[in-house]
Amino acid sequence: MNQVIITVPHSVCNTDSHIRHTCDFVALDAAETMYFKFPDLKPIMLVADVNRDITDYNRKSSRSSRFRTALRDLLTNQPFCVLDVHSFPPEYPGEFDDAEVAIGSNNYKLEPYIKDVTKYLADNGIRAYAVGNIIADIVQEVKDYGVPGLLFEFNEGLETEYRRYIAESIVDFVLVEMWA
Ligand SMILES: [Zn+2]
Repeated sequence: MNQVIITVPHSVCNTDSHIRHTCDFVALDAAETMYFKFPDLKPIMLVADVNRDITDYNRKSSRSSRFRTALRDLLTNQPFCVLDVHSFPPEYPGEFDDAEVAIGSNNYKLEPYIKDVTKYLADNGIRAYAVGNIIADIVQEVKDYGVPGLLFEFNEGLETEYRRYIAESIVDFVLVEMWA
């Protein structure tokens, strides 16, 4: 199946949430920008329906949820790749530092596409960092099916138009460097 899948597991906000970063505030906009940038065959988008405080779709404990079951059904058809879209607050301390977009998983050093997309974005003037040690169960399960999976964390402090430029540059990478 020559289909791209976009997942947005943390897009539902809830101000009563017990989690400090209650949702990924700009992830859905970034994901939709990617969706419309793909020519012809539009990706399949899986978007969260509940706040992560109720079900965190990017954790192993959520694998029996409808969201993750739907993803698994798609994975059995061997899609082209999965783009898992997140965002982080710019004041976040720690591993993302001053990244405009971070790309990662729990063992990114083993994955050529992560290094390649990071370099591609950097060559386009974007502060893109490959990071490790992200809890990324969606990408983890995607890899178990032999499908390339890339997790993106967009900086929430960016201007909208610039963030969309980054999202479109990621689609360019998929089309030029992966699809070709
Ligand atoms: Zn997230």
